[in-house]
Amino acid sequence: MDKHAQRIAADLLHLRGQALSKGDPVALPLVSSSMFHLPGDPDGAAAYGRVDNPTWEALEHSLSVLEDAPCVAFPSGMAAISAALFATLKAGQTLLIPSDGYYVTRLLSARFLSQLGINIIERPTRAFADGGFGEIDVVFMESPSNPGLDLCDISAIAQAVRGQGGRTIVDNTTMTPFGQRPLDLEADVVVASDTKAPGGHSDVLMGHVATRDPAIREAVLEWRKVSGAIPAPHAAWLLHRGLETLEVRFERMCQTAEALAQALADHPTISAIRYPGLPGDPSHNLAKQQMSAFGFLLGLTLADKDSAERFISSCRLLRPATSFGGVHSSAERRARWGDDVADGFVRLSVGCEPTTELLDDLLMALNDL
Ligand SMILES: *Cc1c(COP(=O)(O)O)cnc(C)c1O
Repeated sequence: MDKHAQRIAADLLHLRGQALSKGDPVALPLVSSSMFHLPGDPDGAAAYGRVDNPTWEALEHSLSVLEDAPCVAFPSGMAAISAALFATLKAGQTLLIPSDGYYVTRLLSARFLSQLGINIIERPTRAFADGGFGEIDVVFMESPSNPGLDLCDISAIAQAVRGQGGRTIVDNTTMTPFGQRPLDLEADVVVASDTKAPGGHSDVLMGHVATRDPAIREAVLEWRKVSGAIPAPHAAWLLHRGLETLEVRFERMCQTAEALAQALADHPTISAIRYPGLPGDPSHNLAKQQMSAFGFLLGLTLADKDSAERFISSCRLLRPATSFGGVHSSAERRARWGDDVADGFVRLSVGCEPTTELLDDLLMALNDL
């Protein structure tokens, strides 16, 4: 981790502490109130729970230090993605989304945005830089893509799109700000599902939008206020707590993922492996250029559906579950949701188990196939 990220990780742990008065609780209080004491003229004081909440504000302060940009919190990653898209698009405009990214972003676009007069085009992540940006108003990238783990050149695309007057949004869920900083690569907006590694314990859904563009931030805040897509204070509190250990969890998860990728790459039962940290991976050079870690997700292709299911269910240290980024490793066969991947493709999310324990467990299962 570079010096800047280390500084951020250290600051995150002391943000609240530095503003305390004698007798204040060191831990963040959970404030759950729909009403606020408001006599006379409002004068900008906290007024109503759909607009104001001190627990969100503390969370957003942490998120903004983490992202190095103002942030708006949402009750899920999809709520954050919706807010970013509704805040930047209008009827008659064109949106580019990945054909191989998170499938609910495609559903939102096809099912709702297209009916509001937005023209949707799709392209695979590895071909995202192919140009034609003069015809596109908003370019939505996901890199590395979930589940295929392909990359696109965020900085080159952001510059090309900006040069043509468009805007870029990057879904940074698979990396977190400790692994990749799209705003520093000149993207206009970052969206993320904090349900994954930032929450980290599989007990909360949350998301956020980060942007240094004041007009976009205003529109995103207004969208949250009028659409009512607000986080629950308890969820905000849980995510705030999760962020305090994100750096240490993320580092362990990425280090273990890299060790597993190297150890499993030549295993006879694995027909293909995707991990941006492997020197032979098609995205490796780009990953070295734009990411500061290689992430905690691996794509393993086994012979068929049956081998993949047997592998997942016979590992003691692997939860068979959808979603990723928890302290416990988890895995699933993505074809079961209709993703365009091989039947035997397994998305493996590496957790915080000691590396050799996890490796031994996975090897035992693979050797038994
Ligand atoms: C999970 C995920 C989302 C959606 O997040 P939710 O918190 O489930 O709404 C969006 N993008 C990516 C890449 C994801 O993995």
